[in-house]
Amino acid sequence: MPSRGVVIIGGGIGGLCAAIALRQAGLEVAVYERAEAYRPLGAGLSLWPNAMRAFEALGLAREVADVGASWRETVVHRWDGKVLSRLSVEALGREVGQPTVGLLRADLQQVLLRALGPDGVRLGAACTGFHVEGEGVRVTFADGQQVRGDCLIGADGLHSVVRQRLLPEVRPRYGGRTSWRGVVSVASAVIPEGSQFELYGPGARFGITHIGRGPGGTWRMYWFLLVPAPEGGRDAEGGHREAVLSHVRGWREPVESLVRATPESDIIRTDIHYLEPLPRWGEGPVTLLGDSAHAMVTDMGQGACQAIEDALVLAKLLREDSDRIRALRTYEARRRPRTAYVSELSMRAGAIRYLRNPVARWGRDLLMRALPSSVALEQLRRVVGHDFLAS
Ligand SMILES: Cc1cc2nc3c(=O)[nH]c(=O)nc-3n(C[C@H](O)[C@H](O)[C@H](O)COP(=O)(O)OP(=O)(O)OC[C@H]3O[C@@H](n4cnc5c(N)ncnc54)[C@H](O)[C@@H]3O)c2cc1C
Repeated sequence: MPSRGVVIIGGGIGGLCAAIALRQAGLEVAVYERAEAYRPLGAGLSLWPNAMRAFEALGLAREVADVGASWRETVVHRWDGKVLSRLSVEALGREVGQPTVGLLRADLQQVLLRALGPDGVRLGAACTGFHVEGEGVRVTFADGQQVRGDCLIGADGLHSVVRQRLLPEVRPRYGGRTSWRGVVSVASAVIPEGSQFELYGPGARFGITHIGRGPGGTWRMYWFLLVPAPEGGRDAEGGHREAVLSHVRGWREPVESLVRATPESDIIRTDIHYLEPLPRWGEGPVTLLGDSAHAMVTDMGQGACQAIEDALVLAKLLREDSDRIRALRTYEARRRPRTAYVSELSMRAGAIRYLRNPVARWGRDLLMRALPSSVALEQLRRVVGHDFLAS
């Protein structure tokens, strides 16, 4: 059985970025994706300057920025419109040399698939396991197919099969919150261009971001709602919009009108899960990348950004070190502390956002209004300003 070089399981953002970076590093790569086709994903995504720096290194920053909309400022409001804080993400972006970009996931996927080329991903290939054989690895698929690789990268997301084989005792944990995400095109900007809005209400957080222009000069908007809820809750058939409205009725506009304007089919609900830092990410010629290694709660919007960082670091180390197994262990040693840190910060950021108790909320709001924005910026700088490619 001839070797396919580096075998990547999972053609999500992490797997696709890894494939592009590894090819640019001169390695042979094959990506195997379980889905039969790439379907347009009706959700937005924030790419912070650390992710945009990675796209710059891949030669894709311009193209990625062009399919979305960059934002300069995050404005946090109380649910009724009182401003609690303003954060100039533009200043941070200038330091890093890259903007913060909101875009449609499907648009990013298209940019990555184009960069990878027409034969970039084998679709309909669900990995079921692997066996380490000598210096390489044999990977098995649900249809009985087997392929051999020099290395195996498990970029297969939260419920990773590769991770389950490596660490069967590990289970994703429920983050205590559920999310709804919606995408809608509207005739006017509804929030100032270049702003991202967040609103905190009793036990709920709502966000609004521009994600580029649509047909006829319309504005494409991405919104999300996060609320503490029991795991596994479901909305009634066709009831996503009503479920969202039940949490945000009477909130500062344009919250309610955006939700009302969003087609039911363009709203998705997802429970938020995360992984405790793993005891190890790999063994021999096998490693993990992205959510399979470090799924985190969404409170810093860094899950995909960290997967993209992983991809760049992995490719750099495999290019620089001809001993690929040593390169994988070096990759893990670099990425484990970094992603554990970002995951921990995300968890901490979430601790004050979903308060229900009116006194606790009053205290939080007072603190947010009093705290100089330099404090929040400094914390963000440690995440988005970090030079992840430096050794
Ligand atoms: C509500 C919400 C909002 C978020 N917002 C942001 C944000 O603004 N910014 C940000 O950076 N991150 C955000 N994230 C996190 C981000 O979505 C993830 O971190 C990111 O998608 C991880 O990418 P990945 O490629 O590692 O995994 P995934 O995107 O899960 O991709 C894994 C791929 O592997 C495939 N696969 C799975 N099993 C197999 C198998 N056995 N064989 C073959 N293929 C397989 C899947 O089909 C999938 O295509 C958010 C997450 C949520 C839930």
